[in-house]
Amino acid sequence: MWATPETLKKRMQVQTMREVFTRMALAAGFRPRPEFADDEVEAVWDAVGKRWVAMCECGGAEVVDPNEPVFFCCSCGNAKVGGLWRPVNFPQER
Ligand SMILES: [Zn+2]
Repeated sequence: MWATPETLKKRMQVQTMREVFTRMALAAGFRPRPEFADDEVEAVWDAVGKRWVAMCECGGAEVVDPNEPVFFCCSCGNAKVGGLWRPVNFPQER
Protein backbone atom coordinates (compact mmCIF):
# COMPACT_ATOMS: atom_id res chain seq x y z
CA MET A 1 0.00 0.00 0.00
CA TRP A 2 1.18 3.50 -0.90
CA ALA A 3 1.82 6.03 1.83
CA THR A 4 -0.72 8.85 1.95
CA PRO A 5 -1.02 11.77 4.39
CA GLU A 6 -3.56 9.71 6.35
CA THR A 7 -1.42 6.57 6.60
CA LEU A 8 1.69 8.57 7.52
CA LYS A 9 -0.09 10.44 10.32
CA LYS A 10 -1.70 7.26 11.60
CA ARG A 11 1.58 5.33 11.55
CA MET A 12 3.42 8.12 13.41
CA GLN A 13 0.46 8.83 15.68
CA VAL A 14 0.53 12.55 14.94
CA GLN A 15 -2.11 15.04 13.81
CA THR A 16 -0.35 17.21 11.26
CA MET A 17 1.84 16.94 8.19
CA ARG A 18 4.29 19.31 9.82
CA GLU A 19 4.84 16.68 12.50
CA VAL A 20 5.18 13.97 9.85
CA PHE A 21 7.78 15.99 7.92
CA THR A 22 9.59 16.99 11.10
CA ARG A 23 10.00 13.36 12.14
CA MET A 24 11.20 12.29 8.71
CA ALA A 25 13.53 15.28 8.49
CA LEU A 26 15.08 14.61 11.90
CA ALA A 27 15.57 10.95 10.97
CA ALA A 28 17.37 12.12 7.83
CA GLY A 29 19.53 14.53 9.84
CA PHE A 30 17.71 17.79 9.05
CA ARG A 31 16.07 20.20 11.42
CA PRO A 32 13.30 22.29 9.82
CA ARG A 33 13.31 25.98 10.71
CA PRO A 34 9.96 27.34 11.92
CA GLU A 35 9.36 29.91 9.18
CA PHE A 36 8.00 29.55 5.65
CA ALA A 37 9.78 30.48 2.44
CA ASP A 38 7.89 32.19 -0.40
CA ASP A 39 9.13 29.64 -2.89
CA GLU A 40 6.35 27.12 -3.65
CA VAL A 41 6.57 23.56 -4.85
CA GLU A 42 3.99 22.19 -7.28
CA ALA A 43 1.79 19.26 -6.34
CA VAL A 44 1.08 16.59 -8.92
CA TRP A 45 -1.51 13.83 -8.69
CA ASP A 46 -0.04 10.34 -8.48
CA ALA A 47 -2.77 8.27 -10.11
CA VAL A 48 -1.08 4.99 -9.22
CA GLY A 49 -0.73 5.76 -5.53
CA LYS A 50 -3.91 7.90 -5.49
CA ARG A 51 -2.20 10.71 -3.63
CA TRP A 52 -0.59 14.09 -4.17
CA VAL A 53 3.17 14.32 -4.36
CA ALA A 54 5.53 17.26 -4.81
CA MET A 55 9.04 17.16 -6.18
CA CYS A 56 11.99 19.15 -4.98
CA GLU A 57 14.57 20.63 -7.36
CA CYS A 58 17.05 18.09 -5.93
CA GLY A 59 14.96 15.21 -7.30
CA GLY A 60 13.47 14.25 -3.95
CA ALA A 61 9.71 13.72 -3.75
CA GLU A 62 7.35 13.79 -0.80
CA VAL A 63 3.69 13.01 -0.18
CA VAL A 64 1.74 16.24 0.36
CA ASP A 65 -1.70 17.04 1.73
CA PRO A 66 -4.09 19.60 0.15
CA ASN A 67 -5.59 20.14 3.59
CA GLU A 68 -2.22 21.21 4.97
CA PRO A 69 -0.07 22.42 2.06
CA VAL A 70 3.39 22.22 3.61
CA PHE A 71 6.51 20.66 2.12
CA PHE A 72 9.86 19.66 3.51
CA CYS A 73 12.25 17.66 1.34
CA CYS A 74 13.85 14.91 3.37
CA SER A 75 16.49 14.34 0.68
CA CYS A 76 18.10 17.80 0.83
CA GLY A 77 16.44 19.45 3.84
CA ASN A 78 14.91 22.18 1.65
CA ALA A 79 18.43 23.37 0.91
CA LYS A 80 17.22 25.78 -1.78
CA VAL A 81 15.46 27.88 0.84
CA GLY A 82 17.93 27.33 3.68
CA GLY A 83 15.88 24.73 5.55
CA LEU A 84 12.65 26.74 5.72
CA TRP A 85 9.25 25.18 5.06
CA ARG A 86 7.85 25.57 1.58
CA PRO A 87 4.19 26.13 0.63
CA VAL A 88 2.61 23.73 -1.86
CA ASN A 89 0.61 24.89 -4.85
CA PHE A 90 -2.19 22.53 -5.86
CA PRO A 91 -3.79 22.77 -9.31
CA GLN A 92 -7.21 24.42 -9.35
CA GLU A 93 -8.66 21.46 -11.28
CA ARG A 94 -8.58 18.41 -9.10
ZN1 LIG B 1 15.29 18.37 -2.01
